[in-house]
Amino acid sequence: MPEAVDGYCLSAAGLTKRFGGFHALRDVDIAVREGSIHAVIGPNGAGKTTLFNLLSGVMAPDSGEIRFRDRPLGRLRPHGRAALGIARTFQNIRLFGHMTVLENVMLGEHWRIYPSLWRSFLKAAWHRPFGEAPEETEMRRRALETLEFVGLAEKRHAMATDLPYGEQRLLELGRALAMEPGLLLLDEPAAGMNIRETEDLDALICRVRDRGVTVVLVEHDMNLVMGISDWITVLNFGDKIAEGHPSEVQRDPAVIEAYLGEEETL
Ligand code: ADP
Ligand code: MG
Repeated sequence: MPEAVDGYCLSAAGLTKRFGGFHALRDVDIAVREGSIHAVIGPNGAGKTTLFNLLSGVMAPDSGEIRFRDRPLGRLRPHGRAALGIARTFQNIRLFGHMTVLENVMLGEHWRIYPSLWRSFLKAAWHRPFGEAPEETEMRRRALETLEFVGLAEKRHAMATDLPYGEQRLLELGRALAMEPGLLLLDEPAAGMNIRETEDLDALICRVRDRGVTVVLVEHDMNLVMGISDWITVLNFGDKIAEGHPSEVQRDPAVIEAYLGEEETL
């Protein structure tokens, strides 16, 4: 996957999204450096998930443009963006509950290889009368490597939804990594995790970045955000109100004001 000439992995300009008359996002610009960890923060309802929905192609913006490694994404659907190297996880975990941990990760790989045929794989996972094809053996091996990377190899035969929430989030992250993305969008990956799990996640996200994957992170856990982010964009009521290095953003009066009355403090 070629790197962007200007050093930005992702850039978006003038992103606006309305629901009815309500602005969920208003004229937001964001530029994410190749190889960085870039956090998007803001109080509940600020528009963070909406931004991810626009970046990943789940929703189309009312106006604005998104470029990935200098290529305009236009109206490309999520599977088309995934094939280019944009993967995401969801604030509300979306796993295939009737499949094992390993199969969920294999599905991520399959999506990368055959983005339009993943449904046939789902069927194949249920009906396997003639044993396993060689490609499937290779996919299984790679999926196991990914599970080792996220620390879930021992749970590979468990049903996905039998895992505690923290591990379900790791699994979703593993499934996204199996797509071998250049850009990974993580929507509240620490939600439902205890302090210990959050610390491990902190290290894991850094290892993902060290593999050359650019990470955009929506997260409420400020220790996590301030500790690992190279750059932070702050949204409030759909507007971008600040951006900068963690130390600058933390001291920004507009950011402090936006968080007053929120449970989370900077
Ligand atoms: P955040 O992730 O920062 O908490 P969201 O992007 O989920 O915020 O939501 C921003 C605003 O847009 C909220 O007021 C929310 O109710 C509204 N919103 C988000 N998605 C939809 C949708 N699909 N339909 C209608 N309103 C939505
Ligand atoms: Mg959200």
